[in-house]
Amino acid sequence: MYATTLRCVFCGTDYPLTHRGSCTLCARPGEENALHETLGVQYDLAALKRQLDREELARRPAGLWRYHELLPVVDPTFRIDLGAGGTRLVRLTRIPEAVAGSRLLMKVEGSNPSGSFKDRPIGVAASVALEQGARGLACLTSGNIGSAMAAFAAKAGVSSLVLLLGAAGLADQEASVNVEKYVQISAYGAEVVTPMGNLGQLYALADRIEAELGWSFLHNVQAYQTDGDKTTAFEICEQLGWQAPAAVFVPTGTGTNLFGLWQGFVLFKELGFIDTLPRMYAVQPMGAASLVAAWEAHQAIPSVLERIEPNLAPPISHRVSGYHAYKAMQESGGGAVAVADADMFAAMKDLASYEGIYAEMASAAALAGIRSALALDLLETEEIRQGSIVGILTSHGLKNSLALTQIFPPQTKVEGTLEALHSYLELKKVELQK
Ligand SMILES: [Zn+2]
Repeated sequence: MYATTLRCVFCGTDYPLTHRGSCTLCARPGEENALHETLGVQYDLAALKRQLDREELARRPAGLWRYHELLPVVDPTFRIDLGAGGTRLVRLTRIPEAVAGSRLLMKVEGSNPSGSFKDRPIGVAASVALEQGARGLACLTSGNIGSAMAAFAAKAGVSSLVLLLGAAGLADQEASVNVEKYVQISAYGAEVVTPMGNLGQLYALADRIEAELGWSFLHNVQAYQTDGDKTTAFEICEQLGWQAPAAVFVPTGTGTNLFGLWQGFVLFKELGFIDTLPRMYAVQPMGAASLVAAWEAHQAIPSVLERIEPNLAPPISHRVSGYHAYKAMQESGGGAVAVADADMFAAMKDLASYEGIYAEMASAAALAGIRSALALDLLETEEIRQGSIVGILTSHGLKNSLALTQIFPPQTKVEGTLEALHSYLELKKVELQK
């Protein structure tokens, strides 16, 4: 066991590994603010250096548990193995930027077992929760966390309860539940309910369920979720030949993934596995961009937005992101960019139609964010051409297809003859290849 403590990145307080919830000195219960997310897992670096080297890691099978010394689960029998991780890092070749000479790379997280990157953080957090004695697993989610948790609970043979909200971090604003995710979570066998009430109320409800029924709410083991996210950074470094990229663009809601990635790069550098660190950029939808507002106004701690404007990326629409992500952005010399619905839609279409990668709109925000950074001159021409700009495509497009039915009209029916097809294509000015 190499994990030692949980440490608050804001005030530096250490907590035992069994601590639940946020830093008790920084976060007030029931109040929404950036300091609810500040804890990260610390490791015994000296022991890890003696135990682990790049050659040893390179010999192991791909996936989350390849990095087990760098994860907090002690007893291997508690590692739930769904085959998460080991996703492709794809170089884009056909989008206009690629044709013009930019070398952009995408980490395709939608190919994880439940269709999103959440299989990494939830795989680790669920394993820790069960190792610490949880009787069942529970979460508050707009979908992807719920899908991942229900899948891991199924594999582990434990019950799961999903409190499904319309949009991540929103309980009291009107937003409909994502149907595809509801069906997916239900298929895994989880109990799914949509509770009424504001977030403060729901967190209080979660605490009571946890205390009285012994079920573990995964937001109370947040630090272990970010630990699972580290593995994305580890894989990127290995896939780049033991090098860190120059910049990483992360679609950002709570900020857990961005902070986890940053922790992963830092840990690999501390272990001597890579020489440099990347700049971390948060990408957020316009109208739900607390980190962008905080960065531009040089806030010490990101403020909570009054309300969130409806947009095409509910999974990353939060009133406020975690301070841990804000700190990672700043420490790394990165930043934050906001993207419009039209930018995310164009990025989603381009990834699918040029590159054959169908990503959820909130994921395509990564490419939209890179484009925005290019337009704002945040990236150096040299690093763009060297191919070390990485976007994290967090989830699969099938997660949110129904929401796009208003954008893509219903399919046309034509007579099943070549003549009829020709006239239809003529009408659409599409040439049939001979
Ligand atoms: Zn603290």
